[in-house]
Amino acid sequence: MKIDHTEDVPLTPVLGAAAPVEAVSDAQLVARFAHVDTWVFDLDNTLYPSDSDLWPKIDARITLFLAELFGLDAMSSRALQKYYYQRYGTTLNGLMLEHDVSASQFLEFVHDIDRSSLSPDHSLAGAIAALRGRKLILTNGSREHALRTAKKLGLDHLFEDVFDIVAADLMPKPAQETYDRFFDKHEVEPSRAAMFEDIVINLLTPHARGMVTTLVVPKKGQVDHRESWEQPGVIPAHVDFTTDDLAGFLRRLNGAPFTQRDALA
Ligand SMILES: [Mg+2]
Repeated sequence: MKIDHTEDVPLTPVLGAAAPVEAVSDAQLVARFAHVDTWVFDLDNTLYPSDSDLWPKIDARITLFLAELFGLDAMSSRALQKYYYQRYGTTLNGLMLEHDVSASQFLEFVHDIDRSSLSPDHSLAGAIAALRGRKLILTNGSREHALRTAKKLGLDHLFEDVFDIVAADLMPKPAQETYDRFFDKHEVEPSRAAMFEDIVINLLTPHARGMVTTLVVPKKGQVDHRESWEQPGVIPAHVDFTTDDLAGFLRRLNGAPFTQRDALA
């Protein structure tokens, strides 16, 4: 599958009325999510912060997989990885389409990482637990990776299930059929659901299907693992809200007041 990154979507300035959560009152925010009964979360760089060392470890394993498969040096395998990622949405997709690589072998290899640096995120756990309704993870990674990672974050007991890249028939977000497959499998009515995600383009179909969309971005000064073409200069109109503090944002949805600490964050 070729990903088209040049979608003709209307753009609003980053400081426009649609995006920055600070510009919205608590009451408006609670009202905007009042109809939501299903909460859908991406995993990587969404449920754990982008300054965690987890994603760089996975990223390095992907590079190593390519290096071993093709006998390449690190620089060449890195370049190939970036090429597959941009052209096919995930490196795995490129490897499967161009080289018939086994998905299970790849997923097992790249997610074989040390997660000891992760610790329970009590603030996020409390905020997710307080959301009324179902909670699901929708990830381009593997189910095993999501479960292990969520467990280290102290979040695993909060989610009804994980929809992973295997459940998606190995078709990564942002493919429309992946969301539709997810909605069908878990009987999610998108017009009553919300999606939280760190990659802008992955919110396009959720918005088109009627979900409330929130882009989770790195805090100021925090490392940003998104590719340059994934970092929008302006926030597209398919993003309803942006936040650099997922737990704080969810607390506001749960009716907690917008505190001075949130304002300073
Ligand atoms: Mg992510």
